[in-house]
Amino acid sequence: MKAVAFRCMRLHRPGQPLVLDQCTIDDVPPGKVLLKVHACGVCRTDLHVVDGELPDTRLPIVPGHEIVGEVVACGSGVSFRSGTRLGVPWLGHTCGECDFCAHEQENLCDRALFTGYQLDGGYAEYTLADARYCFELPTTLDDAHAAPLLCAGLIGYRSWRFVQEAKRLGVYGFGAAAHIVAQIARWHGQRLYAFTRPGDTAAQDFAYSLGAHWAGNSDAMPPEPLDSAIIFAPVGSLIPLALKALRKGGTLVCGGIHMSDIPTMPYSLLWGERQIRSVANLTRRDGTEFLELAGRIPIRTEIQTFPLPAANEALARLRNGQLTGAAVLIP
Ligand SMILES: [Zn+2]
Ligand SMILES: [Zn+2]
Repeated sequence: MKAVAFRCMRLHRPGQPLVLDQCTIDDVPPGKVLLKVHACGVCRTDLHVVDGELPDTRLPIVPGHEIVGEVVACGSGVSFRSGTRLGVPWLGHTCGECDFCAHEQENLCDRALFTGYQLDGGYAEYTLADARYCFELPTTLDDAHAAPLLCAGLIGYRSWRFVQEAKRLGVYGFGAAAHIVAQIARWHGQRLYAFTRPGDTAAQDFAYSLGAHWAGNSDAMPPEPLDSAIIFAPVGSLIPLALKALRKGGTLVCGGIHMSDIPTMPYSLLWGERQIRSVANLTRRDGTEFLELAGRIPIRTEIQTFPLPAANEALARLRNGQLTGAAVLIP
């Protein structure tokens, strides 16, 4: 193939803004696929990467793991047709051999590699992906609207799977993931309680518009006890508040990859067989199940688009809570 030269937004040092760089890809390695990026969502995890809050970031790195692109060329062993639309998620590689991989827990693989963190991601005009970790996307959404499904949607879905029996479901942090979970919950007949930053009436109105039964401040108690709850906000002090809102036997799922420290709390908040669990990454099975469901519901996503060179602005808006729905970069 002819080498492709393209623009990307790249992190050279944690804590510094991304830099608009020129890159080239000379050929497509075996098992990989070259994609022309049509859209790439901006996820909170990208903020953690940029801020240096995660260990073992490869530098320099092109962030972005909610990639929607079109097949341009394939490496040997890959037979996607040119022009096929594919999605690339956070999970970019697993070893296939460790105990986790052998027991349908590839999301916990010891040697996993992640897109936009250890593998160059989608804040770029082109990207390479491992063909085994790409998904076909529901045709109900265009490229930009499909992008948030690939992490916000997938992590939301994996988190929701652990609380799908709840009749009354709380969600703390009403951003990209929660606005997708709200639609799954509604479709599933659950009653949704949305908790936002105190005073964020825009997010509360957004939750009501997606069918929430109740929306309020994260430090408020819901009108009735919750069966289960999911925390998407990276705020450890929400854990005792959410436990207080749970009935006995309830499950609290932490969906984020990073969270500020959890304050000490009385054991009585956990007593009564309440459980706390985290959710890490995704499996390919989650991806296939969720994307099929997303087309069937069908899930709609609320997005704000930004041109690729405005990636730093999109990240700043996410950091400051100035987005409704999900930011998506359009190269
Ligand atoms: Zn493994
Ligand atoms: Zn993500």
